[in-house]
Amino acid sequence: MSRAPFRRKSGAREANQLVRLAEGLASSKSRAEDVYWERELEAAVTLQLENNDEDAINRALDKAHDAPDATFDALADMVESLTESIMLDSEHGPQRVTLFCAPILVWGRNQIPAKTIPKAQLQNIAVQLSAHVFSSKAKIALADFMFAPDQLPHSYSQSRELLQNLGTAIRERTHLTIDPKTVEDAPDVVCDMRMIVGAFQVTEGEPFYAWQETTTPVEEARQNTLGIWRSQGGNAIKPLLVGFPHELTLPRSFFSACRDADMASRAYSIGASVSYLEAVTHTTPDKLTAVIGGCWGNGLEEYRIGFAIGEDDDVVHGCVWPLVSDEGDDTPVVEEIEALLRAANVGTIILLEEQLPLEFCDDCGAPHFPNREGEMLHAHLPEDAETGAMHLH
Ligand SMILES: [Zn+2]
Repeated sequence: MSRAPFRRKSGAREANQLVRLAEGLASSKSRAEDVYWERELEAAVTLQLENNDEDAINRALDKAHDAPDATFDALADMVESLTESIMLDSEHGPQRVTLFCAPILVWGRNQIPAKTIPKAQLQNIAVQLSAHVFSSKAKIALADFMFAPDQLPHSYSQSRELLQNLGTAIRERTHLTIDPKTVEDAPDVVCDMRMIVGAFQVTEGEPFYAWQETTTPVEEARQNTLGIWRSQGGNAIKPLLVGFPHELTLPRSFFSACRDADMASRAYSIGASVSYLEAVTHTTPDKLTAVIGGCWGNGLEEYRIGFAIGEDDDVVHGCVWPLVSDEGDDTPVVEEIEALLRAANVGTIILLEEQLPLEFCDDCGAPHFPNREGEMLHAHLPEDAETGAMHLH
């Protein structure tokens, strides 16, 4: 009798079970039922994470897209929260250690640095985070590297490993040294983000953010925190980005901070593009034309904004506005883009009605941007542009 080779069907059964539990949680109608499903789902996801079985998790997330509403969110929330936050035993009782990120929106005429943070500056940033962003109960440690988003861990298990290493650093009252050789190269783009990554530790049940410790209404307290972080944290970060205009967003637990910064970067990149063009071509914004076009793949996926000088047909620069799940062609995204272009004093704003293709350059992978005729073109700065990082082919 021939036997099938012994091969594990990578996580199919486990994936189905994860989706079933997430669907249970998403469709529960009472707190009591929630508690049951949450506990079951937490145990199942923890098992996969501890086994480093990303396949089962990714497969389950794929399947959850086709499951009833909110199943995907229930599963993704659980996977992310168990990835970014763990409990450790200690002599002072159970300690919760959570990965966080302090994002920086940044643009530049030259390559934006992604590099090791010198000790004194790292310590200064940690002091400002402890004093203004985290609660008086929280202990923190930072990774000594200012990361580009592409340099952050790519998988749940790598993120968890980073968290565990930062947890060790907190226990040893130090910061985490990142070997720059282990970090891949950052892409050279005009507008990007940089991330300061760390972990905070509190005794389970204690507040961990500054806004959990005041009597001020929560959103107001959070905005106060952001304001102080922008000034005090900003001073500590400034030496790392000399010559690169930047803006800090709210430091928070890892996944939500990254997501919020990603959203904020869409608006930031529009003003940054206009300032960049002014800096490298000496064209004042009123002489610029911005062409907004919706690019369609499976439905409307993103808007692309092509910039031209005056009435020229060439695209000199562009920026992409990716849409998130609940944004479509019936949401006020276009109005928001137009308002941002007006706020940046762009002289001419053209909105194309046609559906544009999601085109990229075959050579370098850069997105193409629309000109006023609706042609999708590679952005090329004028030959006399003053930039150190011009890319021509
Ligand atoms: Zn290209």
